[in-house]
Amino acid sequence: MKCPGCRSLENRVIDSRLGRDGDMIRRRRECEACTRRFTTYERIEEYLPLIVKKDGRREPFERLKILAGLTKACEKRPVSAERIAATVDAIERSILDRGEKEVVSTVIGEAVMAAMHDLDPVASVRFASVYRSFQDLDEFVGELEQLLRERRAGSTRPRPRAPRKAAGGRSGKGP
Ligand SMILES: [Zn+2]
Repeated sequence: MKCPGCRSLENRVIDSRLGRDGDMIRRRRECEACTRRFTTYERIEEYLPLIVKKDGRREPFERLKILAGLTKACEKRPVSAERIAATVDAIERSILDRGEKEVVSTVIGEAVMAAMHDLDPVASVRFASVYRSFQDLDEFVGELEQLLRERRAGSTRPRPRAPRKAAGGRSGKGP
């Protein structure tokens, strides 16, 4: 990035913002030589690091997956969709600002948990233990969905009165 004033290549990023569609990042930069400030627009795919999963596989950062997870976690909580979207932006920005080519998935998970805490401490506490036991965003979101399904089912229908497996029910052979 050349300074439009003095053509110096030395500059520092003073602010990063996601474009409205989330596919562009707008950076405010300051030239180290002449202190002129200028703005650059960069395609996000070129900058978002790959996510390194627990098993070593790499996959692209998926904004929608995080958005889905947060939306689920904040369901029925007093949190607007707008705030959730802004939070996802902030997470994305924090990952971009690391400036790394690869980021382990737990870093993303922790960022999600931290953001969730700001968004809604109740939802955060509710799901922190779930997340921490998985340390993987895919499993986390999957488990979150299952948990919510179970809760929903549990709220409309009473819990089974007796366990289905009666005492001694495991010994299949009769007397
Ligand atoms: Zn300059």
